Amino acid sequence: MTDRPDIKSLDRAGIERLVAELGEPAFRARQIIRWLYGRGAASFEDMSDLPAALRAKLESRYAVGSLALEASETSSDGTRKYLWRLSDGVTVESVGIPAGDRLTVCFSTQAGCAMGCTFCATGRGGFVRNLTPGEMTDQVLRISDDMGRRVSNAVAMGQGEPFANYEATLAALRYLNSPDGPGIGARHLTVSTCGILTGIRRFSTEPEQFTLAVSLHSAIQRTRDTLMPGVRSYPLPQLREALSAYATQTGRRPTLEYALIADVNDSDAALSALVTFCRGLLCHVNLIPVNPVKGSGFARAAESRTRVFMAALAAASIESSLRAERGTDISAACGQLRQKRLSGD
Ligand code: SF4
Repeated sequence: MTDRPDIKSLDRAGIERLVAELGEPAFRARQIIRWLYGRGAASFEDMSDLPAALRAKLESRYAVGSLALEASETSSDGTRKYLWRLSDGVTVESVGIPAGDRLTVCFSTQAGCAMGCTFCATGRGGFVRNLTPGEMTDQVLRISDDMGRRVSNAVAMGQGEPFANYEATLAALRYLNSPDGPGIGARHLTVSTCGILTGIRRFSTEPEQFTLAVSLHSAIQRTRDTLMPGVRSYPLPQLREALSAYATQTGRRPTLEYALIADVNDSDAALSALVTFCRGLLCHVNLIPVNPVKGSGFARAAESRTRVFMAALAAASIESSLRAERGTDISAACGQLRQKRLSGD
């Protein structure tokens, strides 16, 4: 590990400031960004159209960080899960999900997570640190390289709460969206949050058309508090208000993630609360057959309950979908590959 900071910890404005400080013309910032995020340069030496003196100056102040592949698993359906080792030895996970002509990458925004969701393997391990924009962007670029195809969609839905690392997550989305990077369309870049209200409000004002998903998992306060203790301080009526304001301000439909867990959030009362929460709100409900997490005590809801939920939402004219199960034969839920590695299973 080098003692020089990683240049990929800088956002675009940071690179522009650095270039100005070094007395270089402004267009050098764009060249550097292209090398880092468009061409995957592993060193300043690779940046062949930069003057040698500039490369030397950059080298003396910064390092070019990279991810080391620690482990990967491929499902029979083509879904591939990756465990990356960062420069300080910390590990994070991401997933590549091919489907037809699309490749979706689910990337992590933090190592570990402080939110403590009870159904989540990562939540149980606690928070380690925030990831830098480069560490997030690199997960997407490396998966694109590994799978030999362009990434069409990227979702900040791996380990961590993206809005607890807001600036770095936005910087990563901007690199992913940039024509100097992989140029993924803003509407194909999604942030999935537990429901941090300050983050939702701020996200509503961003100029890009990035999309928003919120983990709801229950529209009954007590149940949601138990499942997601990290957002206990944000009551459901305020969450609904923030989502409504987001929809009004952006004209976009947020997705509400709802993992169906047997005997926890799949009752008729839970369904009725969900319908009430969604009625009149521009939203899309994504029902998820929950991935069993070892030791969590949670089991997937019966298929019949899923059908009842789908039918009731449709009857209330609430848009919904059932997430296709992917990678169930590998450690597909977030934090599981890391957990398996640590426990030596
Ligand atoms: S589900 Fe997401 S936000 Fe909740 S503990 Fe796991 S990583 Fe954190």
